[in-house]
Order: sequence, then structure tokens, then C-alpha cells
Amino acid sequence: MSTTLRFKMVEEAFDRKAMPVETPATRPEQYYGELVFNRQQMFKYLPKKIYDALIDAIENKKPIDRQLADSIADGMKRWAIDNGARHYTHWFAPLTGGTAEKHEAFVEHDGKGGMVEEFSGKLLVQQEPDASSFPNGGIRNTFEARGYSAWDISSPAFILDQTLCIPTIFISYTGESLDYKTPLLRSINAVDKAATAVARYFDPEVKHTISYLGWEQEYFLVDESLYSARPDLVMTGRTLMGHESAKNQQLEDHYFGAIPSRVEAFMLDLEIRCHRLGIPVKTRHNEVAPNQFELAPIYEEANLANDHNLLLMSVMNEVARRHNFRVLLHEKPFAGVNGSGKHCNWSLGTDRGAQLFAPGRTPMDNLRFLTFFVNTMAAVYRHNALLKASIMSATNAHRLGANEAPPAIISVFTGSHLAEVLKHLEESDAADLTDLKKQSGYSLGLSQIPELLLDNTDRNRTSPFAFTGNRFEFRAVGSSANCASAMLVINTAVAEQLCEFKKKVDARVEGGENLTDAILNEVRELVKATKAIHFDGNGYSDEWKEEAKRRGLDCETSAPLIFDAYLKPESVKMFESMGVLSEAELIARNDVKWEMYTKKIQIEARVLGDLALNHIIPVATRYQSLLVDNVIKLRSIFGDRADEMARCDLETIENIAQRMSNIKTTVASMVSARKRANALTDEREKAIAYHDNVVPAMEMIRYNIDKLELMVDNEMWPLPKYRELLFIR
Ligand code: ADP
Ligand code: MG
Repeated sequence: MSTTLRFKMVEEAFDRKAMPVETPATRPEQYYGELVFNRQQMFKYLPKKIYDALIDAIENKKPIDRQLADSIADGMKRWAIDNGARHYTHWFAPLTGGTAEKHEAFVEHDGKGGMVEEFSGKLLVQQEPDASSFPNGGIRNTFEARGYSAWDISSPAFILDQTLCIPTIFISYTGESLDYKTPLLRSINAVDKAATAVARYFDPEVKHTISYLGWEQEYFLVDESLYSARPDLVMTGRTLMGHESAKNQQLEDHYFGAIPSRVEAFMLDLEIRCHRLGIPVKTRHNEVAPNQFELAPIYEEANLANDHNLLLMSVMNEVARRHNFRVLLHEKPFAGVNGSGKHCNWSLGTDRGAQLFAPGRTPMDNLRFLTFFVNTMAAVYRHNALLKASIMSATNAHRLGANEAPPAIISVFTGSHLAEVLKHLEESDAADLTDLKKQSGYSLGLSQIPELLLDNTDRNRTSPFAFTGNRFEFRAVGSSANCASAMLVINTAVAEQLCEFKKKVDARVEGGENLTDAILNEVRELVKATKAIHFDGNGYSDEWKEEAKRRGLDCETSAPLIFDAYLKPESVKMFESMGVLSEAELIARNDVKWEMYTKKIQIEARVLGDLALNHIIPVATRYQSLLVDNVIKLRSIFGDRADEMARCDLETIENIAQRMSNIKTTVASMVSARKRANALTDEREKAIAYHDNVVPAMEMIRYNIDKLELMVDNEMWPLPKYRELLFIR
């Protein structure tokens, strides 16, 4: 790109006005959910008997028979066609991340040379997309070649771009999951069962426990034309080079600041789109970095919330393009400013309306709260390495451990008030209990639980897993991630922990303890056993790294090695005993993780190598030769005196030569490191080789290029700079 073109693009980007918003004539309550086959529409389009049977199946997790499926398909088709749909698709989330669709038209031969619009129960319930190039970690080679998608009745169908989308799971012929939804649903069932059994200690009427998720999606916006002029952004979603802009986020003037009108128009359009699709988005604001924003919905049941997040991510891209923006969901699109995460607010609640992580008014409510709270801490403690693995990826690796995001060590923040309660619980022993029993009669021990009026003002932004009043906020999840990966680990770990807890409490009761004592005593044991996971201090500090190591928390920072946690015996035991993932599935899924890691770094390394050799070095050479030219001319005029006059040029010439030589040799060694890595056949070994040998070379190349950016004539620099990319007016 010639420089004048770069300047022209920047000027145009800065001058671009807000695009008009496609505002519907009506208010949100009128268009909310209009593109969703929700209960209202089901009721309208299905015979009463069929509607009742479907609701019964959804609420009680029952299978759907063929006849019922045919009737539902017929109603769903009529609804979809009435709302402009021409195609249908099974919509699923393969292990690549993102979502997949294969569209089919509703048409079938009518046998008379014409067409009819057809959609049978068979097509609704199950399909064989033959999506054979999705990664499957060898599962489909070993087990059976076919992959099936099967309808998830708990997540309603919706219309996107005139296509009826049916949320489905994606599994192999022999039932191994090839997606995130399958194990997420299994984990939701596991935690439902385990938590309900414990919740019944406090309310025998509880039938179900629901896991909830409220995500907060962070993202960057970049002007589309500037984006197109950055091959690294186009191909990898992040800038592989670029010197920090003089002003970035130091003044903290972007956080919660006024939203630029261009961005506001985009946000409004996006919100309208979301509301029509039944995604209950609510909160929006500027984030810390320039051009960084956040969008959060009202929390929902975890499976639905996760589908909504996946849908949001694809809708965002589309709406952004209409506003001449590109959305960057990458965790670290720009060095030197904050990256993007996706805080996952997670909680459990019963079908009787109790929030299991909300302290209550009565001592019994508070004991229930403490029971679930402390069991969650214990689950996080036991599986802290696995939880970290669940959020790890080549892209999120940039964010963790950097001084802006959760550290690469999982710990739980409770806040000072709860910390006191836990300490109190721990220190009171059985004797206290008896004393208290004597003093206070029936309410034994419960006077040990002080009134839980939680003060949430001491929010700790450096904690990866923070208690925030009535929920836990898992902050380590990456902005581009499928939240299911993390949610299914939390659900499963908590389910396993609650099962064990219940066994122990029941054993105590059988041994003669009264139930309240038994619960309290077990909670106390857990508080003692899991102290190491509790940390309310500064998670970014070096002292914490040392301290965490002493406490035996997982401190691994290399992504490929972090994935090992999935295959540790205690992880396999947890997943298998809870019926969430089998060992074969875990092995296959880890191969996919390593493979994806390698491929991401491989693409980045290629793009960086090309840019370095084809874009940067030629321009640096051109500028250098201008300087050389100048020195020669000075010499021809001033003779001996010229060297003093040209000192600055001579230094720059040498400096540029040095940088270029560094870049060239490092690109060459990066290429050979890649070749050596590619020769490895084991996916894990290959990913480790990429991490250990390719990534450091990339950093070195970038460092040298960024130095050149400061030396070379601004007019010649071929790529839009950070200061141009990062400020929307
Ligand atoms: P903050 O940025 O202060 O953490 P936000 O309002 O941006 O808060 O996001 C909080 C998210 O947590 C929202 O999606 C909200 O619906 C969700 N949330 C609130 N209560 C719960 C709960 N009990 N369980 C799960 N998510 C919750
Ligand atoms: Mg938050």
C-alpha cells in the first residue's frame, strides 16, 4: 500500500459518520424474541396436545418420539416460512470454536414435476452433516466415520438470515461428543442431580437445580478499511507488530467514557438484532483500552446463555460490517493495551426459586449458602489446574499472566467479610459447638454463622475466580472462547464435590449426628482442607506467584502443558464418574486442543514472516538508501566536514542495518524451528515445539520491527499504525 493511500484511508476512517440504525417502528417488548420459536409461537403453531407433550419433554428432559417430532417439525416449518425462512440448518458448535451450519432448502419433489416445501420430524431430530473436516482428534477414524447432529430441545430454534436454525449437539455414530454442547448438557445434568440431593437437606421439595450463566463479552472495534490494510488482523485476528501509540490507556479516559456516535449506532443495531433473536442483552459500556467495549445480557440457564453467546459472536460480525467496522474477538489484538475477556458469571438455583449462592435471612438459609459456597471452593481447589486448562488457548495465552488480566494461577476471592466467616467456622471446634448448643438450645452451631450481609464493595479485579455477592465470576475465560468449555468443568467439578459431600454428611447422620451438626462439621472440614485456594490479595504480584507455588496450586504457564490437566487421573475420574466425558473423548479432545494451538501459531508465524520480509524490510531498505544518498551528497558538497553533519544519519543507517539483519536471521531460524516442529507426529510434542521455539522467535521479530517503525519515515510505513487503528472518532 502506498503511503498516500494509508493517509487517505486514515482520514476517511476518521471522517466517517455514524450509519443510520435500522430501528424497528415498535418498542423492544413488541419485537423481543420475534425470530425465536419460543413457547408463545409453539403454542400458536402446534396442536395443544403436541405443545403439551413438547413442554413436558423439555421440562422433564424426556426423549421425543418420531410421531411427535413430525408434528413439531410441521408447526416449526409453518412458523419459519411465515417469518420469511427459506432454508433450515442444524446449528452446532464444533471443537474449532465458532458455530457451524449447513443450509438445506425446504423443498422436496412433489412427484408431479414441481416442488413442495417439506420438513419432516426426521430432518428436525437428526442429521448427518458429513462435516468430516471438523477436528475430532481421531475419534471418527477410530470409532466410526459419520458425525451426527441431533436436536437439543432445551434451546429454541431461531431464524437467522432467512434460515431456520435448529440448535443441535454434534456426536459421532458411536456417541462420542464432537462438540461443546454435548458435554455441557451432560454437566448440567450432573450438577442438577448432585446439587438437588444436597439442596433437599434444606428444602425437601426441590426437584431440580439449574446452572446459570451471565457472560460479559468484551471486544474491540476497528474501522473496516484500516483493518483490511493489516494482513495480520485479517488472517490472525490480532496485530503481529505495531509500536505502542504514545497515548493509549494511561489516562483511563476510555473506561466508561462517552461512547463515540459511530459506535453507539453500531451498538444500537446490534442490540435490536439481539433482542429480536431473544438474546436479553442489557449492559454496554466502553472498556479500559481505546476502541474496546463490553456487552452483557441478563443471565440465563447455562446452555441457553451459551447458545446466545455463540449466536451473538456471529451476529456481531455481520452488524459491524454494516457500520464499516470489524469486530475483533481475539483476546489480545494489540500489545500494550488490555486484552479482551469474557467474564462468566456462574451460579446455581433451584426450581423452588432459591439462589444457592445468595446468603439468606435465616440461619438455615445461611447454612445452605455456606454449604454450596464452600463446596464450590473445594471443587475449584481440587481441579484448579483443570479449570485453567478449560480456558486456555493459543489466543488466550497472551492474556493470562500479563499484568492486566487474571494471573495464570486459579484462586478464589471471597471478600473480607466472608473470609472472616470462614475463619470463624474453621476455628470453632466441636467443643464450641457443644457449648453453643448448651447456651442457645436448639439453634446449635448456627449462631456460629454470623449474619451474612455481604459487602461487595471490595471487588478484587485481579482474581480469576471471584465471589461477587450471589454468584462466582470466572474471569479467566477468553473473549473468543466458547464458554461451555469452562462451564462444563465447573459444573462437573462441583457435581463431583457435592456427591462426596453428601456421602460424608449421610455417613455422619447414620453415625448418630443430627443433620445440622453433620453439615456444619463437614463444611468446617472442607474449609480447613481447601484453605490454599482462598486468596484475596493482589493476583498480579510476584509474591503471589511464590506463595501459590508453596501452596501447591498449579503454576504452569505453557499452554500445551496446561492441557495435560485434562488427562490427569483425577480429571478422568471426575469426568467419567459424573458421566460427562469418557477417557477416549478426553484423549481425542486434547489432540484437537494441541492441534488447534499448533495451527494458530503456525499461521501467525507464516504471516509474520511474510510481512517482515515483504513489507517491512523493503521499506526499511528504501529509507536506509535515502539516508545513504543523503550522506553521499553531503560528502560531495562538504567533503571532510560532512561526517560530523551526517552523524545522525550514519547512526540510523547502522541501526536499520542491525535491525534488518536481526529480522532476517530470526525469520530464518523461525522457519527452521517450524520445519522441525512439523516433522513431529505427536500433536502434544508438536504444540510444545511451537510454544518453546516458534513463539519466542516471533516475539524477537516483532521487537525489531517495532523499533524500525520508530525510525523509518512515517510516510513510507506500509501498515496502519496503532495510533490510527485504535482511535475511533
Ligand atoms: P460487572 O461488570 O460489574 O461484573 P455486569 O453487570 O457487567 O457486572 O455483568 C454481570 C453479569 O452477571 C450479567 O450478565 C448478570 O446478568 C449476571 N448475573 C447477575 N446475577 C447472576 C447470578 N445469580 N448468576 C449468574 N449470573 C448472574
Ligand atoms: Mg464482571
